[in-house]
Amino acid sequence: MIRVGNIKVPLDFDFNDLEGFCSRKFGIYGNNLIKVRLAKKSVDARKKSDVHFIISLDIEARDEKRLQRSLKNAVPVNEFRYKINNVPPLSTRPVIVGFGPAGMFAALVLAMAGARPVVLERGADVDSRVKAVEEFRTTGRLDTECNIQFGEGGAGTFSDGKLTTGIKDKRIGWIMKRLVEFGAPDEIVYLAKPHIGTDKLRDVVKNLRERVISLGGEVIFGAKFCGYKAENGCISSVSYEKEGRLNTIEATDVILAAGHSARDVFELLYHENVSLSQKNFAVGVRIEHKREFIDKAMYGDFAGHPALKAADYKLAVHLPNGRALYTFCMCPGGEVVAASSEKNRLAVNGMSCFARNAENSNSALLVNVDTSDYGSEHPLAGMHFQRELEEKAFIAGGSDYSAPVITVGEFLGNTAGEDVVPSYRPGVKKVHPSEYLPDFVCESLKLGIPEMGRKIKGFDSSGAVLTGIESRSSSPVRINRGEDMQSISLKGLYPCGEGAGYAGGIVSAAADGMKCAEAVIDRINGKMF
Ligand SMILES: Cc1cc2nc3c(=O)[nH]c(=O)nc-3n(C[C@H](O)[C@H](O)[C@H](O)COP(=O)(O)OP(=O)(O)OC[C@H]3O[C@@H](n4cnc5c(N)ncnc54)[C@H](O)[C@@H]3O)c2cc1C
Repeated sequence: MIRVGNIKVPLDFDFNDLEGFCSRKFGIYGNNLIKVRLAKKSVDARKKSDVHFIISLDIEARDEKRLQRSLKNAVPVNEFRYKINNVPPLSTRPVIVGFGPAGMFAALVLAMAGARPVVLERGADVDSRVKAVEEFRTTGRLDTECNIQFGEGGAGTFSDGKLTTGIKDKRIGWIMKRLVEFGAPDEIVYLAKPHIGTDKLRDVVKNLRERVISLGGEVIFGAKFCGYKAENGCISSVSYEKEGRLNTIEATDVILAAGHSARDVFELLYHENVSLSQKNFAVGVRIEHKREFIDKAMYGDFAGHPALKAADYKLAVHLPNGRALYTFCMCPGGEVVAASSEKNRLAVNGMSCFARNAENSNSALLVNVDTSDYGSEHPLAGMHFQRELEEKAFIAGGSDYSAPVITVGEFLGNTAGEDVVPSYRPGVKKVHPSEYLPDFVCESLKLGIPEMGRKIKGFDSSGAVLTGIESRSSSPVRINRGEDMQSISLKGLYPCGEGAGYAGGIVSAAADGMKCAEAVIDRINGKMF
């Protein structure tokens, strides 16, 4: 099979007739063409007067070598086959803490290897979780164990389900195929910027859980990891609380994939002297525009074309104060959501359904926070810093989980505009960000938003809305691990995923979960590092 890349096609291209296209474009007729499939598809909107798709095709044909020589941009396809080694029957099963993307893919790989993992997840199954999240968003009553951060599927369940990632890992193709198998749309395999949407993700995580269970794994919801025992520097058991009772299970391999919001877990590890270090993160607000405005700004007169979905953007500006302001986790046609997980602390984030057809498009606007900003050498100083900001934002919003909002016009001192209605629930209150953001973040937003308005005309329009506080973009802590993926201070503990500081986003967390599962399998099978 060969891959022919960089093919420009119009927006009304017929994707159902790839065979016809191959004969017209490449002269491959009749029996000479065995199979053709779409391998990549992206929108090229660099020129607003000529918005089109760029595609790659995988072609299986007779005499492929000659074909490859005759075509520009053609290379052989080497499909990576992911191989999972089996383990012998085990008396002590591996334990996974957390059933977010990292824990889910670790569980899947271990279950496929025959290791019958036990998953401890503090939150509820996805259906009960949907109810808890909706309750919070309508009444402001927060369940600290089951919310946008905690519960089946982890932080990614109530998200845009974007699957773009900065990492290059051969496991990504396998992850995409599994997601499709569990109910994600087929297109995620070939789109340059794939996304699933929170509505479809809910079924995907349920189907993945069912597969883990069908392979002998166990998923215990409402089970909060709260301690462990170690012998000679190696973990020997873990404890968890469920329905007010303390339970202990024997465990020699524990994948800790508790996410960046499990602050009680960071504290527990700190008190047990597990090796931790500070890590940079970023903080800021969400910016909301009308979806139609962003579509027009990105696609020009092609906005609204039936072949185009809601438009996204990605911006970064370097500022004279030495900081950078950048957009992150853009949610086209989505909403700003209440992402708190602790009482009296406020955090916001963004999510979208698959259709991405809500009134507004939003994105995080973040400023990097360096460990030197924490003002302390304490390994958890970044977490304390985050907490302090979230407390200030909670108070600024009126102490009822309403979010502080301001229009860009009011923030920059231009005329006020009100054309964007904030999507955040349970409520909003008009407050200047200086009441909850550090000075350097406010200053960077002031300098950076007009700069961004030069890159996307109207990005800084006075009616756009800023909603705070976006404080959970990544983990402020790293749980240090070695080449063998185990904690450098506690053997048998595999710090994993975003919370441990080794991933950022759904796909990289899933890939890290797989790596930790592979390390457990290797250890069980006696492979030394
Ligand atoms: C609203 C929102 C939107 C997002 N949108 C996107 C997006 O579009 N694309 C993208 O790539 N990323 C997105 N992200 C980020 C992404 O969700 C995370 O990067 C990813 O989920 C991290 O995976 P993880 O498995 O490492 O941790 P998590 O997903 O945080 O999962 C950790 C799990 O551990 C559980 N847990 C915590 N403590 C304990 C304990 N003591 N005992 C038992 N279980 C515990 C939690 O309940 C949770 O289920 C979004 C995040 C949020 C909050």
